Amino acid sequence: MLLHMFFPSKCVTCGSFGKVLCVSCKNSIKPVTQDSCIVCYRNSINGQTHEICKKTSFIDNALAIIKYTGAGRDWIGVIKYKRAYSTISEVVSIFPQSWIQKFKKITQYYTNALIVPIPLHKQREKARGFNQSKKIAKEFSKITNIPTSCVLLRVINTPQQAKQPTKNTRKENIKGAFILKQGQVVKNKTIILIDDLYTSGCTAQEAAKILKIAGAKTVLLFTLAHGKV
Ligand SMILES: [Zn+2]
Ligand SMILES: [Zn+2]
Repeated sequence: MLLHMFFPSKCVTCGSFGKVLCVSCKNSIKPVTQDSCIVCYRNSINGQTHEICKKTSFIDNALAIIKYTGAGRDWIGVIKYKRAYSTISEVVSIFPQSWIQKFKKITQYYTNALIVPIPLHKQREKARGFNQSKKIAKEFSKITNIPTSCVLLRVINTPQQAKQPTKNTRKENIKGAFILKQGQVVKNKTIILIDDLYTSGCTAQEAAKILKIAGAKTVLLFTLAHGKV
């Protein structure tokens, strides 16, 4: 009984017995085929924030690997709310080498880079037992050979962003939620923020703001999935 709670034996998207994510559902997760700007959602090369959009963005570049739709959406839901941790590295590993190469290529331009997972508030992390962003950060770190460091702290346990109806309420909801941990230095560094999903981008923008104020040179965002709101 206890084992079933921790290791669900039904596929989350189709309910078939066996794995948390069956082969058929895993194969129907759609990769992002066109990178876009985090501000205007229009196409952009390698997810660069357009020059004009940089006026309202603390993030210089945003990349995701899967679309937040269908099986991909259900899968992101499960890694966030259940202990289906192991499937993160499994899904990352099915992506074509061309995608992995792109992540590597973008990060090789940056020296003095650091991978930083978006933190959860300690109460929420304790209740959940894990922070999925830390696990994803570990996977991206393996791909890019860039070290991971948890330099940010979430000081406000904000209500869930997904429950906020508009971009403006999301922005307000997350305001002041992060601080730089004492003793951490990000001056002149390139920070690669990691999260499971970005939709409005408000959470990542708030974290990026703190990093830029502290002197970070460039802030990139890498997520597993990207969905518009
Ligand atoms: Zn399935
Ligand atoms: Zn733009």
